[in-house]
Amino acid sequence: MSDNNWVTRQPKVKVESMIWFHGKISREEAEQLLKPWRTGQYLVRESTHFPGDYTLCVCISGKVEHYHVIYKDRKLTIDEEGFFDDLTKLVEHYKDDADGLVSHLITPVPKKGYAFKEKGWAINRNEITVGKVLGSGQFGEVKEGEYKNKKVALKAMNESQRNLDPFLAEASIMTQLRHRNLVQLIGVALGNPVYIVLEFMAKGNLLDYLRSRGRAVVTKKQQLDFSKNIAAGMNYLETKKFIHRDLAARNILISEDDTAKVSDFGLAKDDTVTMDSGKIPVKWTAPEAVRKNQYSAKSDVWSFGVLLWELYSFGRVPYPRVPADNVIAYIEEGCRMQAPEDCPDHIYKIMEQCWYLNPERRPTFSRICDLLECLTPFFSS
Ligand code: ADP
Repeated sequence: MSDNNWVTRQPKVKVESMIWFHGKISREEAEQLLKPWRTGQYLVRESTHFPGDYTLCVCISGKVEHYHVIYKDRKLTIDEEGFFDDLTKLVEHYKDDADGLVSHLITPVPKKGYAFKEKGWAINRNEITVGKVLGSGQFGEVKEGEYKNKKVALKAMNESQRNLDPFLAEASIMTQLRHRNLVQLIGVALGNPVYIVLEFMAKGNLLDYLRSRGRAVVTKKQQLDFSKNIAAGMNYLETKKFIHRDLAARNILISEDDTAKVSDFGLAKDDTVTMDSGKIPVKWTAPEAVRKNQYSAKSDVWSFGVLLWELYSFGRVPYPRVPADNVIAYIEEGCRMQAPEDCPDHIYKIMEQCWYLNPERRPTFSRICDLLECLTPFFSS
């Protein structure tokens, strides 16, 4: 029987161990990933022109060479002289010896998400059970799930749908944070779709919580407790030198035992990074951040003031009669939101301090925690 009658099967790709294997990415994407093109940096991708073959991309002094890896006679080869059983063996060979390539292979560019594995955040996807939809966010649906006999929340992202970078960036930020008032990352299940596995927050987001229950149900004590929880979470974030940039009631989640936790670190950045203006939640954002891109812990404090206002108005939209486009001008004229109906004076005073035009005059989160703590004896029910 001629060999042509056989469907030739390639050796199974052991993606787990091949950190330099990027799957189906284009030539341009590969070149982007390899930047700044240091000699010996490399990765392997699936060939776009020759399905079933691979391409080894190697940098040499400021440029990238793409070598076609041919699958022939059940072996892999670049030059039809050296033949290898699998990609790992091929890469090992060219690590030792350039053997005709522009350089021997020195530094692999790891596949996206590899860092999670390396740092112990990778979860085996077989251990996750996917359940019903909980809500939807900027990256798609958030689902209920189970992991190790515990309820979890799952944020899914399909690799082919969108760029994974911002999605994984959020998870990557979360690996650096651990506090009882921040929604905890449990891990990341790589593969397709990628799942970000989060602590399950049974009572959903604060905005829906307030709107659905209203003043008949939510007590002053509960409002103060939520304020204290959020301020404590933000104080921790401030000490870790992270800026949230999108603090609002919609991004606070409530646990089964009514603890409020800050979530949604999609825009959070290390405080050395400046953000380019994309979609800005103007009614929550400090004027200097909207106008001059000056984000800081103090611009988060401004947003905290707006969040307090949402909390004490049971989920009203801030600046009810001002269109979003006019809000900054309104603030710069010296106008501020009035106290929500029935809001304690001391709480409104904190809001006013959060809304000083000069960021330096605004209190720190640590100070806000102290101010709220002082109010505890007055709102015990
Ligand atoms: P995005 O950051 O992509 O906008 P969110 O994190 O705001 O998405 O999630 C959207 C919605 O999904 C939330 O408003 C909430 O109702 C639900 N949700 C998100 N995370 C959890 C969680 N950990 N537990 C329970 N529900 C969640």
